[in-house]
Amino acid sequence: MDITNLSKDELYNKISEIGEKKFRADQLWSWVFNKGCSNFDEMSNISKSLREKFADIFSIDRPEVTQYLTSVDGTKKWLIKFKDGNEAEMVYIPEEDRGTLCISSQIGCTLTCKFCHTGTQRLVRNLEAGEIVQQIMVARDYLNEWPSTQETRLISNIVFMGMGEPLYNYDNVAKAAKIIMDDDGIAISRRKITLSTSGVVPQILKCAEELRVNLALSLHATTNEVRNHIVPLNKKYNIEELIETVRQYQDISKSKRITFEYVMLQEINDSLEDAERLLKLTKGIESIVNLIPFNPWPGSIFECSSNNRIHKFADYLSKGGQPTTVRTPRGRDIFAACGQLKSESEKISKAQLLKNNI
Ligand code: SF4
Repeated sequence: MDITNLSKDELYNKISEIGEKKFRADQLWSWVFNKGCSNFDEMSNISKSLREKFADIFSIDRPEVTQYLTSVDGTKKWLIKFKDGNEAEMVYIPEEDRGTLCISSQIGCTLTCKFCHTGTQRLVRNLEAGEIVQQIMVARDYLNEWPSTQETRLISNIVFMGMGEPLYNYDNVAKAAKIIMDDDGIAISRRKITLSTSGVVPQILKCAEELRVNLALSLHATTNEVRNHIVPLNKKYNIEELIETVRQYQDISKSKRITFEYVMLQEINDSLEDAERLLKLTKGIESIVNLIPFNPWPGSIFECSSNNRIHKFADYLSKGGQPTTVRTPRGRDIFAACGQLKSESEKISKAQLLKNNI
């Protein structure tokens, strides 16, 4: 049984089931999630016999890292292989005032946002909560920053913006987020966690009630016609419905600021008329618009808007009173930038499984 896949309450129950006292669960939790221990022998305040008992019942192994790349700008990317051989990517982006780890929630994605490389990879499967948490643990191993409560942490922020739509794997994402936020473990507060969604309306409100993390909405267009094309989920939940849901998210979660992600695609969504519509859509919502210069990938059909156009768009929004930033592309040389993630894992059909005797 993998400890990283257990909530604290589940660990308490398991420890009680095997006849041990509750404080043993607290000790285990602290060793695993606060100190980053991946070997029961290192748990010095637990007797040898009990460590052996725990080692028979629990596992705390890390997934394998099959590729680790560092960009010229310091961005790092890991390709992680899970027990069943499937792989997902995660990215660390160091900045002056923070370090952000962008983690994956699915292998592949069911959605097919046209500007996104992951969207060309069919959904293989959802990641389990433990597999989501393990991504942070692997990054902390590499960045040498255990225990997790140290003052100057390199990983200060977590974003669910890697491979997959987190709200299509809500239960595992919510469980992982609660493990990540626990003060006795990984201890990253809800204010430092951002969940990015393409707009799965019913789950957005669930998230507001249960998690209250920061919300980033991948808006990317100001008309339903364009959004239907580049974010096909829009055909199910249109822009008006989404904006109304985001307002409710802010009310329920008391979140200080919503982020609207907006990828800049040459002559698709980058006119000043778009900027004007964006101002109207975001009016009255405490928010920031994050303009993302499109990051090309092999086979992509779009071009990035020119610098000039991006800055005119940004200025228009700013003058209209809408806080706006332009994201500096990071890790493009190692295909770690926004929308560029993809692994080689493929969904194997039932026929193939039978043929290969798997
Ligand atoms: S942008 Fe997100 S939701 Fe859309 S295809 Fe890419 S990974 Fe999936």
